[in-house]
Amino acid sequence: MTTLSAQPRFLRSITVDRASKFVSTEFFSDINLYSKLYKKRSPDAVELSVYSVPDLKRIPFEKATKQSFQPTSTGTCYGPSWSTHWFKLKITVPEDWAGEPVELLWDSSSEAMIWSTDGIPRQGLTGDKGNDRRVEYTLLKEAKGGDVIYLWVEMACNGMFGTGKGGLINPPEDDRFFDLCLAEIAVPNPAAWQLFYDMQVITGMANELPNETARGQEALYALNQVIDTYDRDNLDASLKKCLQISQEFLSKKAAPDSHHVTAVGNCHIDTAWLWPYAETRRKTARSWSTQLRLMEDYPEYVFVCSQAQQLEWLSQDYPKLFREIKEASKKGQFQVIGSTWVEMDCNLPSGEALCRQFLYGQRYYEKNFGARCKIFWLPDTFGYSAQLPQIVKQAGAQYFFTQKLSWNNINKFPNTTFTWVGLDGTKILTHMAPCETYTAQADVGDMVRSIKNNHDLAFSNQSLLPYGNGDGGGGPQRAMLERLRRMKDVDGLPRCDMGSAEAFFESVEEKAKGLQEWKGELYFELHRGTYTSQAATKRYNRKLEFLLRDVEIATTLCMSLGRDYAYPKAELDLLWKDLLLNQFHDVLPGSAIEMANIDARAIYRDIETKGKRLLEECLSRLYQSKSLGDGSGDSFVAFNSLGWDRSEIVEIPAQPDYNLQQYSASKNTGYVRVDHGAFEYRDIADSKAETSRVQAISQGQELILDNDYIIAKFNQQGHLVSLYDKYERRELIPEGQAGNLLKLYEDVPLYWEAWDVEIYHLNTGKSAGPGKARIGEVGPLRATIIVEHKLTNHSTASQTIVLTAASRRLEFHMEADWHESRKLLKVEFTWDIISDFATYDSQFGVIQRPTTYNTSHDYAKFEVCGHKFADLSEHGYGVAILNDCKFGYSTHGNVMRLSLLRSPKAPDLNCDMGHHEFAFAVFPHKGTFHESNVVRQSYQFNVPLVIHPIAKNTLKEHKPMSYFEIDGAKNVILDTIKRAEDSDHLIIRLHEAFGGRAQFKLKSPLNVQSVVRCNILEDDGEPVAFDKSARASGWIVLHAFEILTLKLKVK
Ligand SMILES: [Zn+2]
Repeated sequence: MTTLSAQPRFLRSITVDRASKFVSTEFFSDINLYSKLYKKRSPDAVELSVYSVPDLKRIPFEKATKQSFQPTSTGTCYGPSWSTHWFKLKITVPEDWAGEPVELLWDSSSEAMIWSTDGIPRQGLTGDKGNDRRVEYTLLKEAKGGDVIYLWVEMACNGMFGTGKGGLINPPEDDRFFDLCLAEIAVPNPAAWQLFYDMQVITGMANELPNETARGQEALYALNQVIDTYDRDNLDASLKKCLQISQEFLSKKAAPDSHHVTAVGNCHIDTAWLWPYAETRRKTARSWSTQLRLMEDYPEYVFVCSQAQQLEWLSQDYPKLFREIKEASKKGQFQVIGSTWVEMDCNLPSGEALCRQFLYGQRYYEKNFGARCKIFWLPDTFGYSAQLPQIVKQAGAQYFFTQKLSWNNINKFPNTTFTWVGLDGTKILTHMAPCETYTAQADVGDMVRSIKNNHDLAFSNQSLLPYGNGDGGGGPQRAMLERLRRMKDVDGLPRCDMGSAEAFFESVEEKAKGLQEWKGELYFELHRGTYTSQAATKRYNRKLEFLLRDVEIATTLCMSLGRDYAYPKAELDLLWKDLLLNQFHDVLPGSAIEMANIDARAIYRDIETKGKRLLEECLSRLYQSKSLGDGSGDSFVAFNSLGWDRSEIVEIPAQPDYNLQQYSASKNTGYVRVDHGAFEYRDIADSKAETSRVQAISQGQELILDNDYIIAKFNQQGHLVSLYDKYERRELIPEGQAGNLLKLYEDVPLYWEAWDVEIYHLNTGKSAGPGKARIGEVGPLRATIIVEHKLTNHSTASQTIVLTAASRRLEFHMEADWHESRKLLKVEFTWDIISDFATYDSQFGVIQRPTTYNTSHDYAKFEVCGHKFADLSEHGYGVAILNDCKFGYSTHGNVMRLSLLRSPKAPDLNCDMGHHEFAFAVFPHKGTFHESNVVRQSYQFNVPLVIHPIAKNTLKEHKPMSYFEIDGAKNVILDTIKRAEDSDHLIIRLHEAFGGRAQFKLKSPLNVQSVVRCNILEDDGEPVAFDKSARASGWIVLHAFEILTLKLKVK
């Protein structure tokens, strides 16, 4: 007789579900494998006392541990949000645990840090639920029994993503309390843990591998076998048998030519985001101390850490931990990476600010860790400037790593491993992690995605896996390292190794062939609202970049002219570092909580105060004068910090001896024409009278501004109804159209409020409430029209429209009182110009982008980032819209718009509410953009002449002169003049600004001894000829958009 013995066929979905319940922390967790991870537990062994720090202060260990502590126990809740509570732990290990390993389990439903009694951070903890939970700390590898151990725990009342009310990006909840629900010791069961990790990998394979593959089926079979074998009543013996089954399955090797994954541990710590900077300083200590513990147990493990600023904070707050990190870095396990000061936004900072990110970052790494970084590591930023390849290469790095374009919500970015070709043609080897995250979990899914999403397997059969929980998650977890060990060489998966990012890139460089190229900016098709959110932050950033520029130019001149002046290097370093800090990719873009924005503004105010003071002091020294005791003077000097001649109408306090051609309405100030050469200063008393005239007149229903260059006509609402160029005899406003239209759009994105303005907002534009225009000043130097706008029932704005006698630049100076919810204010101009491309100012160059919606790549750029201008030109003529602190442009056909204000409600509930000041200008010009002087005009609009009071006749002997001149090439901008980092040499940085060749001589009346080319890090390169008698260099040639740094020795 035959007995039927076959088991029933297993079903995929049921098996996978069964396996997940077998290791679940939620279902059947009283009897499943998860319930057997610890052999013994003892809550009573932990004796607790607490000190709650008042006033939400974060205090150092030394101070905290001197306070008086009160007994407490688990089950107590601590708060409110952002408060800190220090716990003293006395742990007594039970006698019968002798010989066992012992762990402390701590869950305060928040972030916390374990400190040793000698004040060294030992490990971070992340409580609550979810993947990021980290509650175990290894107390003893082997207990003696009866051991008594003392520890401190610093509990921070915030979750890893802050305290958002009912959701990740919601504004923080101020009064949240956190439950200390777990504080006990336990003895782990190593066999149960081993099986637990095995099951995670096998379940992953059953889930992710195609059903029709043998390996996928084998994984299902193994899962069933393990769970069938598991016997909770005969645990130890059954675990042994289970492990035999799982390990047999995992021992089957991958094919030799399998895809290779380099797994790099990392912890993406946003320098401020849903928490303030002060909390980041603690997050770094928690995260990195955690990683040091893992390195002790996993010698093959490599962790990378970016952002020099965070390391500098750590060295200040936790010097002992910093020393441990430096030791680990010598062993190669803790690797510094990234090259920059912080992981900055790459849309909004100036070209010089991008250079300084690398200058301060690389110098920090070189000084503290012995070498510069080879990789520009920037996984999370909202678009990548086309000048980055050149800047990265000039800053000593060779490779670029990111992944953010995987978030594009219109087009899929087509490359994974490729050559990125910058604006000037510089090439850089680039990799975008195909796992499509920088917080990968190092699970089977990540391995499968590394192949599935890899667009360049034909050219390079390897990928990088940046894994580890970010922010308060503390980086990689033990489970991730265990999974990686298991997945090292398994049939059905790519082979993988824990390794360094640098070795990965070197390997790609060696093995890849025929890599694809991507030319130009890496435009991010999401987060377009970050060009506009947090207007005050953006304004400060623009103004202070230029203030520091002025300070550096003035102080360098002062030093070079022998004024017995010590260049304020240390102070400038601090100001620059603070400015760079606020360019972090959630601060400057405007995607942080209000608390972080308040901190950022305080930093900006400090930079402004100190920067202005430095400038004042230095100018007084430069002019070798003292202002009259009260800080005023009876005459004025104007300083032109731009590299070309300019004429401006400036406003100065009225003086009895000055015969001003025009006084302001108050008569306290008046206007004067000033003509200055490049980097030149002169007494305003030397100014010529202005012979040109401007006037403001009312004619019928129209208000008119009229000078030698243009006639601008406005209707009663303040709309620009005609703009006529007198020289070219050309009207710019098409019949029936207008400019200076203020429009409101519904601005309701899909989720990321502060980040996103979505394509459909364009359908909702409506004119803001009507303006009311009147004439202000009438000339002859400056004429104005004032427009009062009632934008909505809640918000108002006023415009002062200015035309001076000296320029064709028509300026709109605006103030707004803004109280809206999810509305976007734009100003719109329609031009009589036909062009398929508009030209946008960018870092040290320009980018052309389509004005059409032909393809998905065209309309994905419905809102783009531009710096000081956007230009629309056709053959023979063009017009630019300049701005002094805005970045969001949209040009469609002949309609140009500039985004002025947004009103998102998360994560900062009060984003952009209140008073604003900003300005934009219209600059019509003959010729195309390339033939225009739009670039110079945009600088002039942003960099006013610096007016400084002095006592009269102080500059009697002074012969005004241009201290630097670019002779022979109008397309070269000399942007930066500073002292060299390590000597009294001068550094000047210039660039070709239009996209063509430049051939010029650098002239300077200073006593220049020699000139060398150098890079951004100021390493000496080739010498440049300099003729001392002619005070001019030999011919220097730049190619399109080339950035050139020169080092000058000046006697
Ligand atoms: Zn980030």
